[in-house]
Amino acid sequence: SKWVYSFGGGRAEGRSDMKNLLGGKGANLAEMANLGIPVPPGFTIPTEACTFYYQNGNTYPEGLQDQVMVALATVEQIMGAKFGDQTNPLLVSVRSGARASMPGMMDTILNLGLNDVSVEGLAKRSGDARFAYDSYRRFIQMYSDVVLGVDHHHFEEILEEAKDDRNVKLDTELSADDWKKVVAKYKDKVKAAMGRPFPQDVREQLWGAVGAVFGSWMNQRAITYRRLHDIPESWGTAVNVQAMVFGNMGEDCCTGVCFTRDPSTGDNDFYGEFLINAQGEDVVAGIRTPQQLTIHGRELQRSDLPSMEEAMPVVFKELNAIRHKLEAHYKDMQDMEFTVQQGRLWMLQTRTGKRTTKAALKIAVDMAREGLITRKDAIGRIDPAALDQLLHPTLDPKASRTMLARGLPASPGAASGKVVFSAEDAEKWVKERKEKVILVRIETSPEDIGGMHVSEGILTTRGGMTSHAAVVARGMGTPCVAGAGEIRVDYAAKTFKVAGKVIAEGDVITLDGGTGEVFLGAVPTIQPELTGDFATLMEWVDTIRTMKVRTNAETPLDAATARKFGAEGIGLCRTEHMFFAPERILAVREMILASDEKGRRAALAKLLPFQRQDFIDLFTIMQGLPVTIRLLDPPLHEFLPHTDADIAEIAKAANVDVAAVKARNASLHESNPMLGHRGCRLGITYPEIYEMQARAIFEAAVSVSQETGRTVTPEVMIPLVGAKKELDLMKDAVDKIAAEVFAAMGQSVKYHVGTMIELPRAALLAGDIAQTAEFFSFGTNDLTQTTFGMSRDDSGPFLEVYRAKGIYEHDPFAQLDQEGVGELIKIAAERGRATRPGLKLGICGEHGGDPSSVGFCQKVGLDYVSCSPYRVPIARLAAAQAVL
Ligand code: PEP
Ligand code: MG
Repeated sequence: SKWVYSFGGGRAEGRSDMKNLLGGKGANLAEMANLGIPVPPGFTIPTEACTFYYQNGNTYPEGLQDQVMVALATVEQIMGAKFGDQTNPLLVSVRSGARASMPGMMDTILNLGLNDVSVEGLAKRSGDARFAYDSYRRFIQMYSDVVLGVDHHHFEEILEEAKDDRNVKLDTELSADDWKKVVAKYKDKVKAAMGRPFPQDVREQLWGAVGAVFGSWMNQRAITYRRLHDIPESWGTAVNVQAMVFGNMGEDCCTGVCFTRDPSTGDNDFYGEFLINAQGEDVVAGIRTPQQLTIHGRELQRSDLPSMEEAMPVVFKELNAIRHKLEAHYKDMQDMEFTVQQGRLWMLQTRTGKRTTKAALKIAVDMAREGLITRKDAIGRIDPAALDQLLHPTLDPKASRTMLARGLPASPGAASGKVVFSAEDAEKWVKERKEKVILVRIETSPEDIGGMHVSEGILTTRGGMTSHAAVVARGMGTPCVAGAGEIRVDYAAKTFKVAGKVIAEGDVITLDGGTGEVFLGAVPTIQPELTGDFATLMEWVDTIRTMKVRTNAETPLDAATARKFGAEGIGLCRTEHMFFAPERILAVREMILASDEKGRRAALAKLLPFQRQDFIDLFTIMQGLPVTIRLLDPPLHEFLPHTDADIAEIAKAANVDVAAVKARNASLHESNPMLGHRGCRLGITYPEIYEMQARAIFEAAVSVSQETGRTVTPEVMIPLVGAKKELDLMKDAVDKIAAEVFAAMGQSVKYHVGTMIELPRAALLAGDIAQTAEFFSFGTNDLTQTTFGMSRDDSGPFLEVYRAKGIYEHDPFAQLDQEGVGELIKIAAERGRATRPGLKLGICGEHGGDPSSVGFCQKVGLDYVSCSPYRVPIARLAAAQAVL
């Protein structure tokens, strides 16, 4: 079988649609070669070889070795150089390349093929012994670290000593002879650490590197990254072996990273950074602050350094032409890496570029308008969950502020938090102390990924827009300011100094990742404007989706926010939330403490006007859109007083003694409250509670109808039903109150009585229940809890273990369990609609705002999903994607 896919010299054995086999990098290198774009020749060892490697005790499949040698010979032929040669050596890079991009997570080796003999060849060929020995020492350092496991700090020490000896500060000040000495010391260090010399056989070097790349698939940071990004371990990585080209052979050489459009704003500007006389990783590592690609970019960044457009106009033009060619070909924004060796341009990589959500929207909408993609394509390109980034606050322009520093606007959004100086501290402070933190680093590296993930914002003092911190923060949607060069960090003292101030660990700062500014203290924020590209895409979304999107809301503020986000009604009003306001809770407690029905009714009479006003507000805000009101659900003890002061207060108000209150508290205690006296069981035992609520609903509906002239059609929802008989009793009670209210007010309104389906029994008996119920709303929080027999409040700790062990892939309370809970929903939908064709079906558990669950809801034929206000736009987009 085929274990090697060659590319280069204007042709390739792979294509861009072979990502599963060749990894993203390998597939796109092949595609570029096929498009006639200059890529250094090379070959890809497919992901299948990685899978084989892990399944067969870290061994290679038969035939791989021979095929690699044949492919290598082709590369030698194209480059006119020979692997390990003493006059004209071929050097290669060995890089990982998984299906999904995992920036910086796995190992890379450059300059492979150098040894004591070929380094001389490189020196002669390049006419630059300094360059050759610098390359050799870089290779020894990288190879020893990655393949041989000799820690890089050993080499850094040797290098520091060499510079001290020569009394210089910069690497570039060392001569060829200095580097020769450094190389000798490096080799001694390897020999001392390994007990054998640094490998001189270039084939041994190559296989060592291939094994290390496969091995890096299972290193800790790659595992963490996969967990955070839901990338399966079974995919494996491909290995790309490619002829080296050098961006560090002199002033007519450079290396850079660029995007076909601005990844931060989405503007159709060529965007990128480069470094003259530098090797590939220098840009990403953020060691030198790079120069801008274009004049426009330089002006935007107010940079004094010349842009590539100015410094190397001819190659820039060629690069710009490739930019247009690649974007037109891939029909999406590309992220490219290039190197110029002695005036000749080489493309090292292209891939779909990561971008901010704001940029994603702008690019999708612009490309649809340009005719490059369809509107449906545009809708499909936006990650619904990522919309979240746009719905969150930015700094209030009117708020006063004290600016500390300015860096690059690396990832948008505003965030405040306490300063910490290491990724470990970030994790500790967030997890153990429940603090919000801003991670402040000179630069970040892939080891910091966990700490970056939990931070509110990231601030670095070195590196550009494509530095590790910037790329990773944008991917996470975390605000980031990068390269704030005036800031001096002192890790040992845990402080940073800027603008004459000293900021210590634990001090609060605010970042504006959209402007690159850093402020002292917490600066107030404001809600975003939902206009422009967001509004346009949302308009397109609404023309194609078939499911409605409602919101879960009780307060006028939430209802109004949800309307602004496009909610088409209320799918769940949890009336118990309305009972906790200070002026109401006393009446609720009086009701609970009352010894008989008469006492309960007296207390409920005090609640009625409050509850009626609540519904008047909601009906008014919703302007005739459907409003589903759920009658009281939680067990009564949730309302009971706990502090002595509260107990004394209620005892006085209810005219009973403190001991009686305590006794009632004790008698209402339940061992399993979620399975206890709650939901319609309350309505069955204390009908007067639901009667008061029904009265409030109908009085509000009639009065809003009268006042606004708009018909209000309330939907009254009974919770936790498990038997038709329960619903029958509750519906009779509701109907009776409706009739009374309509007679008294001289006007009636249409209304519906329905039920939540949140118990397995209700799902199974949905055919019966639908005889009475006029609608179903799936309460998937309780349905998940009761189907799994797993408490929604207590399952966190062991669910984490379950997920780690792969028993459940996701938290079923966040992402609907389609196999189990989903099956019950399907059964209930079918049986309910068999009894009552056209039965209205919705979902109001947390899953209603989760994109993958929304897709499932479409499949089983729900009429609407209901979710919290901030998730309404996410659900609208997910509902549209569900019909693509
Ligand atoms: C549910 O159970 O899914 C639901 C929406 O109700 P609650 O979360 O209030 O129990
Ligand atoms: Mg529930």
